[in-house]
Amino acid sequence: MVARLDEKLEPIFQDVLHRNPGESEFHQAVHEVLETLGPVLTKYPNLVDSKIIQRICEPERQIIFRVPWQDDKGEIHINRAFRVEFNSALGPYKGGMRFHPSVYLGIIKFLGFEQIFKNALTGMPIGGGKGGSDFCPKGKSDNEIMRFCQSLMTELYRHLGEYTDVPAGDIGVGQRELGYMFGQYKRITNRYESGVLTGKGLGWGGSRARTEATGYGTVYFVQEMLKARNDSLDGKTVVVSGSGNVAIYAMEKAMQFGAKIIACSDSSGILVDEAGIDLQLVKRIKEVERRRISTYADEKPGSRYVKAGNLWSVPCDVALPCATQNELNGSDAKTLIENGCIAVAEGANMPCTTEAAQMFQAADIAYGPGKAANAGGVATSALEMQQNASRDSWTFEHTEQRLEDIMINIHRNCFETAAEFGSPGNYVVGANITGFLKVARAMDAMGLI
Ligand code: NDP
Repeated sequence: MVARLDEKLEPIFQDVLHRNPGESEFHQAVHEVLETLGPVLTKYPNLVDSKIIQRICEPERQIIFRVPWQDDKGEIHINRAFRVEFNSALGPYKGGMRFHPSVYLGIIKFLGFEQIFKNALTGMPIGGGKGGSDFCPKGKSDNEIMRFCQSLMTELYRHLGEYTDVPAGDIGVGQRELGYMFGQYKRITNRYESGVLTGKGLGWGGSRARTEATGYGTVYFVQEMLKARNDSLDGKTVVVSGSGNVAIYAMEKAMQFGAKIIACSDSSGILVDEAGIDLQLVKRIKEVERRRISTYADEKPGSRYVKAGNLWSVPCDVALPCATQNELNGSDAKTLIENGCIAVAEGANMPCTTEAAQMFQAADIAYGPGKAANAGGVATSALEMQQNASRDSWTFEHTEQRLEDIMINIHRNCFETAAEFGSPGNYVVGANITGFLKVARAMDAMGLI
């Protein structure tokens, strides 16, 4: 059920397929953007002649490198790492690093491509990039993580800089990993360049509210979508996939807005607690003790952990996929719609398959795509860069207020752009066109680059 592309866009997509074989996630991400750009080319035919879309689909630079490291027993391991510097029309490349065994070039390119438009939507001066490695951090000791991060940064440092490329965290990369990477960068370059990485610890250049930002931002976006329908999160039941950084803080903010979280998950199964998830217990298990979420059920009577269960079959008003790409398919979307779900927002990047996203839109469910709904994380990273540049440190309240304002603004821009281009209420159209036009205009102004 893939939508047809405009006749000017289909050859561009075929070229992307041909030039990037085997990179299915990248193809999916490009297709999803191109699907919405037909009316833009009709309105601005000059963008066809200047081949802006072809240029945006080709990364400015792609770096692939070897990361050798030694485990605690002395055995040597070789991983592969990537940094795709996709587009710098609006500012230095900005986007996280992902450590997960599934990582390959196609995943990093899909994430980097999405990042271009997401970063444009924030209104901050940041370009788009992404990186990662097929390294699996699960079960590794702190020392092994440190050796891996140091080895990775020993190559990556030469491509970074606060005006060049500024990585952050993503799946498998949190403050511990960023600390090891920052330490190695500082050691090699002999520069305390705070602005070269974001998501840092508070004691060494980090921003308050960065840890919370992606999850909080996603829920601010949901609240705005519901407001546009004269509704709110108050009293709603919410299901959140994952139990990592984004999931935990999406749960926290949804609870602050009066919602009840009844289920979350990890890659092994789902946790259902109809009495309402105890977030302090989740935080202790995941953030302090680094245990599996299944152990929650051992401590909280009345809750249950179902191995390999389907989270989306738990009836809810609002669904927040916050784990990974393509985790919610057409059959899940059908179940959610039948169970009366009214809103879906993507805390993760591209968690809904193309089919699922189209089904939500056809059913008139408020559907917030990741580019818009999870942009709060990178927006707050840009706020961290601002604080680093002015050697300042803002309060939590001030930073969170900026985040809320940014999310309200993103929602308004997407809403208005969707209406302007003939698709009222369609946040996919709104997000893609708003982000695309911002980048395209900047590229156009800078000549053929
Ligand atoms: P974390 O590593 O903190 O958490 C990831 C969570 O998702 C874990 O619960 C993990 O379970 C689960 N998960 C990962 N892979 C899979 C899989 N293949 N199948 C099922 N569950 C899986 O990552 P984040 O919370 O930071 O990131 C989550 C998503 O949000 C990603 O898509 C990321 O790109 C996106 N995102 C993150 C931002 C941020 O600021 N961190 C910003 C914007 C988007 P397990 O522990 O079992 O692996």
